[in-house]
Amino acid sequence: MKFIFVTGGVVSSLGKGLTAASLGTLLENRGLKVVLQKFDPYLNVDPGTMNPYQHGEVYVLDDGAETDLDLGHYERFTNCKLTRMNNLTSGQVYQTVLNNEREGRYLGKTVQVIPHVTDQIKKRIDLLATQSKADVVITEIGGTTGDIEGLPFLEAIREFALEVGYNNAIFMHVTYVPFIKAAGELKTKPTQQSVAKLREIGITPHLLVCRCEKPLDKELRQKISMFCNVPVEAVIEEKDVDHSIYEVPLMLQRERADDLVCRLLDLHTPPANMTHWQEIIRKLIAPQHRVRVGVVGKYIGLQDAYKSVYEAIIHGGVGNDCGVEIVQVDAEEIEKNGAEKTLKGLGGILVPGGFGERGIEGKILAAQYARENKIPYFGLCLGMQIATIEFARNVLKLAKAHSTEFEPNTPHPVIAMLDEQKRVTKKGGTMRLGAQPCQLALGSKAALFYGSFVVNERHRHRYEFNNAYRDKFEKAGFVFSGLSPDGKLVEIIELPNHPFFIASQFHPEFLSKPHQPHPLFKGFIAAAHAHIHQKPL
Ligand code: GLN
Repeated sequence: MKFIFVTGGVVSSLGKGLTAASLGTLLENRGLKVVLQKFDPYLNVDPGTMNPYQHGEVYVLDDGAETDLDLGHYERFTNCKLTRMNNLTSGQVYQTVLNNEREGRYLGKTVQVIPHVTDQIKKRIDLLATQSKADVVITEIGGTTGDIEGLPFLEAIREFALEVGYNNAIFMHVTYVPFIKAAGELKTKPTQQSVAKLREIGITPHLLVCRCEKPLDKELRQKISMFCNVPVEAVIEEKDVDHSIYEVPLMLQRERADDLVCRLLDLHTPPANMTHWQEIIRKLIAPQHRVRVGVVGKYIGLQDAYKSVYEAIIHGGVGNDCGVEIVQVDAEEIEKNGAEKTLKGLGGILVPGGFGERGIEGKILAAQYARENKIPYFGLCLGMQIATIEFARNVLKLAKAHSTEFEPNTPHPVIAMLDEQKRVTKKGGTMRLGAQPCQLALGSKAALFYGSFVVNERHRHRYEFNNAYRDKFEKAGFVFSGLSPDGKLVEIIELPNHPFFIASQFHPEFLSKPHQPHPLFKGFIAAAHAHIHQKPL
């Protein structure tokens, strides 16, 4: 079994996760079984309780784990199956170590960062390796070299590599080579210093992936090689992509990063066949069709807050050979300026998941505008609850209908807390989480798009459709096209006399990949394109 450790230097947000995932793609397409894992040095047990401004989106796995958004990249770029074993935080490590201490497992000893914390970290690499039976385990260490919090993880991977031997474990350092406009030059000093920092703690990178705006010329590569103690062929250029993040695997392949990794790890495989991936890029760069869709949210300024939603929309485009321009619409803007002014001209309107009251009325206006003007509407989780509230207020004339999340005393609680949630007092990891089966109604649009009657989709919510209102809604033409197998929970709703008005209580965005666009996203983009061109779907 082989191990690749990915660290990051100079600044955060370099796309370490993307780089790790892209290397995973290449190795998988060389015929290897790959698994990816993320270590996050913060003390939260998981990112589930963090604000998207702090952390970006929370990515949910089948088993209900609330994880770092890099795991989204891993799932989109590779076929590896992820569980809560694939994301480890300092919070989890310390929780385990402290529980062990209380149970007396270290009896007589002083409990210390080295070896107790580091051993716990190494165990998780081992455990994943054994359980996954992968040929290659790629472990990404969150944060930047030099962070105090990251030190135990770096020490643990240093020890681990020593123990398994350097032909079985390598270090890949993702760094930044900034372009200084005033000097008109790329600068290597920050990279030199971040590698020096790693070497101080006993890690010498085997590969340096250099993020840059301009190409690295030969001279610069030689300079980096010399000062950072890596062979020149191991200085890998990773320039900002022109069109799409899905170009990164092809970029790394052109730089022969995967060849080098295989050589260092003694892996003998044919080169990666990336033909299908090239076809995806072709559709992204020069699509036959184009459409604009709006995403109405409250964390609009922050690119990472709706990461999987944006990606799934792009995949939906790939599935239709259609380039999608995503217009990010601030829900509060709709409250100020009205739906018509903010949303006119869009092919489709999507309302993603969310928590808290800010922007809710703007989202309700967006759903109303889409319903009344027959503009394709796609609601995800909160977006489904919004569509329900809008229908209750404006079609059923249930004045002040609301979700009890936002108005506990509403006269018409059409969205209310799930029964199982009423006893819950703790906030961390306690929502209805993870993959749950959903049965689709015969003849529904949802069943048509899925091409199946049972689907498994990932959830993350505390509130649901209130069944006391089912009859009323049904009589007015609201269709419950997806239900939990016992019929008790509403999972998908749709409107029949509308080109595309579908909303789900679950998060379909977590199951979409560029090469396997999610059927509902694919349907939404097809509908958006048809709407703009005034063609039937
Ligand atoms: N806030 C809503 C709930 O808890 C929706 C959650 C979401 O969109 N993920 O039910």
